Amino acid sequence: MIFKCKNCGGNIVYDPDKGTMCCPHCDGLDTEEKIVSTEAMHTCVSCGAPMESVILEHTSATKCPNCGTYVILDERVQGAYEPALILPFRISRNKAIDLLKSEFGKRVFTPTGFLSNASVSKIEGTYVPFFMYDYDTSTDYHGTGTKVRHWTSGDYEYTETSYFDIHREMDASFDRVPVDASDYMDDQYMDLLEPYAYEGFESFQEKYMSGFLGEKYNRSEEELAPRAIEKIKTAIEALINASITGYTTVTRKSMDANASKQKVDYALLPVWEYVFRYRNENYKFHVNGQTGKVVGKTPVAKNKVVLYGATVFGLITLIGSMIRLLAAAIM
Ligand SMILES: [Zn+2]
Ligand SMILES: [Zn+2]
Repeated sequence: MIFKCKNCGGNIVYDPDKGTMCCPHCDGLDTEEKIVSTEAMHTCVSCGAPMESVILEHTSATKCPNCGTYVILDERVQGAYEPALILPFRISRNKAIDLLKSEFGKRVFTPTGFLSNASVSKIEGTYVPFFMYDYDTSTDYHGTGTKVRHWTSGDYEYTETSYFDIHREMDASFDRVPVDASDYMDDQYMDLLEPYAYEGFESFQEKYMSGFLGEKYNRSEEELAPRAIEKIKTAIEALINASITGYTTVTRKSMDANASKQKVDYALLPVWEYVFRYRNENYKFHVNGQTGKVVGKTPVAKNKVVLYGATVFGLITLIGSMIRLLAAAIM
């Protein structure tokens, strides 16, 4: 499908600055008309040109290489592939370019042309598929803690070690634990681009995709669930460890965590991607399409690359979580 302007017939795109559909040709607002595909999927709805070169296995939205129209592939955003949620782009193309320039423009040893207008204008916004998992968990933890005391009396030095049984029972609910469902989009980049503010989620509407590229999920939510559980277990460990204080040493004996899946939402998250080719290597730069956070490896002399961006530990968002910490250590 494409979105066409009722006034001038141009291709209408979603404008992140205005937060609405806007015709770049006549400035018409909300003048869009949805034209669904009647031809084969690999043909442009607007000009009829073949689009095999830009429609890959998982592509759900792309740009016609002939006329530049943004085309959304009906069958890849509908039925089993219809997302429940979408975070519409809040950062416009120009803003994303400005952010890249202010982040990397002053770096030394970057190759000529790295951020030239001709090169950087090739940046494209992409909706990356995610599954958002809700889990209820209950954890049973057993460990041993020690407290060590030293003192001197007369000619003797004394050391007393006391041992404590530590027991924790914790029930915690995790909401919207994100797992990247795209093989193309490296998990490493996505982790660095997070966090997203989930309060910006909208119910999915096709119009938000007009003007951007997109992918449908590459793997099923069942296949990706272990990754969500891995993230949750890391968070549970951190919560339990934070609740155990005041010991000289702590040794874990066992930790049994049961996680039961409550809900899974298929969602699309916005990312700007700029690929710079230098000495037969692709350098990828990403801008979080909602927050403007910039992540990338700058090409520098001597093939040295610097991974930029802070590793965000807070992968797990605990929303409305109910945490009960029971059974304190025997003191
Ligand atoms: Zn128009
Ligand atoms: Zn076309």
